[in-house]
Amino acid sequence: MGGGSMNLILFGPPAAGKGTQAKRLIENRGMVQLSTGDMLRAAIASGSPLGRRVEGIMATGELVTDDIVVGLIEERLADLDAHGGGIFDGFPRTLAQAEALDAMLERRDHRIDLVIRLMVDDEALKARVAGRFAESGRPDDNPIAFEQRLVAYNRDTAPLLPYYRHQGKLVEVDGMASVDIVAAAIDAAMAR
Ligand code: AMP
Repeated sequence: MGGGSMNLILFGPPAAGKGTQAKRLIENRGMVQLSTGDMLRAAIASGSPLGRRVEGIMATGELVTDDIVVGLIEERLADLDAHGGGIFDGFPRTLAQAEALDAMLERRDHRIDLVIRLMVDDEALKARVAGRFAESGRPDDNPIAFEQRLVAYNRDTAPLLPYYRHQGKLVEVDGMASVDIVAAAIDAAMAR
């Protein structure tokens, strides 16, 4: 672990609770959150060329291209040295992104230490988010885009699980449990 810090990936489908758990780790441990979704939404809000390029695809719930998100993450990797570790949230989402991340981290003498998978049931997820669409304000929080985000997760992102299992980094947590129970399970995994 670089400098005694720990880098972890919060892994799971949309609305599994990754953002909620990341927020807690930031507050309690001084970790930094690297969320490609947040970076892309910031690019859209700023009206940059990149933002204009990704806006349409994000609204549909499909993935943007690997080169875009790998570039965004690379720009932020220096943040890892200034914090007690990093939380990758929503990245990587494809095998190509995972391989690029490992290579970028290695060049900086960092590594992914732990991959925490929040396990949730698709149908239960849909029920969980249904009531929140109206208040979220995200253009991709509607039934059609959410369904597409789940499709993209199951098609492109879930296949990463064997990659991290093979590296011995994967810990599976019941994401349907309460926020506090999930938090305790994450703490236990980080203390191993
Ligand atoms: P999120 O906030 O993580 O759910 O991301 C919102 C949207 O941003 C996704 O539905 C994708 O369109 C895009 N996005 C975020 N992260 C990635 C990524 N690592 N790879 C491809 N697309 C991404």
